[in-house]
Amino acid sequence: MKPLNELTITEAAALLSKGEVSSVDVTKACREAIEAHDGDVRAYLEVFADTETQAKEADARRAAGEAEALLGIPLAVKDNILIKGRRASAASKMLENYVATYDATVTERLKAKGAVFLGRANMDEFAMGGSTENSAYGPTHNPHDLSRVPGGSSGGSAAAVAAHMALGALGTDTGGSVREPAAFCGVVGFKPTYGAVSRYGLIAMGSSLDQWGPITKSVGDAKLLFDAVRGNDPKDSTSNSGDERISKRTVKKRIGVPMSIMGGLESDVLDAFEESKAKLASLGYEVVEVDLPLLKKALSIYYIVMFAESSTNLSRFDGVRYGLSTQGANLVGDYAESRGAGFGPEVRRRILLGTYVLSAGYYDAYYGRAVAARKQLVSDFNRAFEDIDAVLTPTTPGPAPKIGEKADPLSMYLMDVFTVTPNLLGMPSLSVPSGTVAREGKNLPLGIQFIMPHGADDALLDLGSRFLGEA
Ligand code: GLN
Repeated sequence: MKPLNELTITEAAALLSKGEVSSVDVTKACREAIEAHDGDVRAYLEVFADTETQAKEADARRAAGEAEALLGIPLAVKDNILIKGRRASAASKMLENYVATYDATVTERLKAKGAVFLGRANMDEFAMGGSTENSAYGPTHNPHDLSRVPGGSSGGSAAAVAAHMALGALGTDTGGSVREPAAFCGVVGFKPTYGAVSRYGLIAMGSSLDQWGPITKSVGDAKLLFDAVRGNDPKDSTSNSGDERISKRTVKKRIGVPMSIMGGLESDVLDAFEESKAKLASLGYEVVEVDLPLLKKALSIYYIVMFAESSTNLSRFDGVRYGLSTQGANLVGDYAESRGAGFGPEVRRRILLGTYVLSAGYYDAYYGRAVAARKQLVSDFNRAFEDIDAVLTPTTPGPAPKIGEKADPLSMYLMDVFTVTPNLLGMPSLSVPSGTVAREGKNLPLGIQFIMPHGADDALLDLGSRFLGEA
């Protein structure tokens, strides 16, 4: 048998239900892996002191007759998801000592199923970034090559799963933060349809883009976590049951690839992508070229809408209501001092740019046009989905870069070229591992990303598990 920490959630759940292992055993195996590897990887900002107590409780619930698949499964939790009574800092100095006073809806639902929370996973500050280098507490390292980034912003979550320091992890995805680190770390990342999972209790970045998402070793595991938390929540008015949006579409077994945006790929990355297309063809899918005229503008649209929404969301951190509070000469001084001391450079950059695109003189030129273009992008995709089941792209333009390699913010933003689109669309998107490329003697993982129409989450997970040969 594999070491317990190397099991998928599905495998561990089977052993737990047969009584062959206990949650205490599985949790201990993860804790030992953390002990052995996290000094190098640094996926966790905090490992909770009470993991064994949580595991014992899960074992007691099972002994009393409960049989949920997630009962006793140890998970890593991104540091922007609230767990009552525990810290949630969003990897920012601003919230360094913030202790959550309530559970996020996803937390509440996972507690009801008996999941064990191992600790807080590192991330880019306020989820702003694609490498976890923007964490105020130092970067996480990619388990496949410690000199490289794990991706971000859910980099700690993805690294924890890839290094078997958790059976699965929770992340959030505003423009790729679940899928991009999953691709760089060789694991599965899923962003559900906007609203399919409640955002209540997730520290907000861009509210029209944010979604919760699982990072796991298999698509089956992603489905288990998604099923545990999905569905309407009265505390989030944008959440929905999914029912009304589930497209009653006929399956066409046709997948569209927008080749026009593949320009910048390195040749072995393009080769790997071609292999994935061939694999889909061998599974009986027709892979066709799809024309999505506005797709090349998606990154520009995202980097206006997201700046605008981030700057708005972060205005609540004023040194009065939450977190860090620094005294200035007067009230405005308090705001300026607190925000200057609490926010890191990338967060400040986004607040400035967001304020700029929303300012009276520039609103029409930037924000207004981005919102109009976003609508057009949605119609482009809806039209395309009349002929195809899914759109396929690489998840990222290449494998994980070195720590420090993308210090220039624009080159960092360009890594998001494929992942931001599903967030603008509100459509579900899944990244699955698709082979490796060699760099400096190391095999680095790549991922491919599928996008499907609103509400087609289950069909999307189905397609992913077929691609990986799980189903
Ligand atoms: N990398 C993207 C950004 O920097 C996405 C971040 C996210 O999804 N939270 O905005």
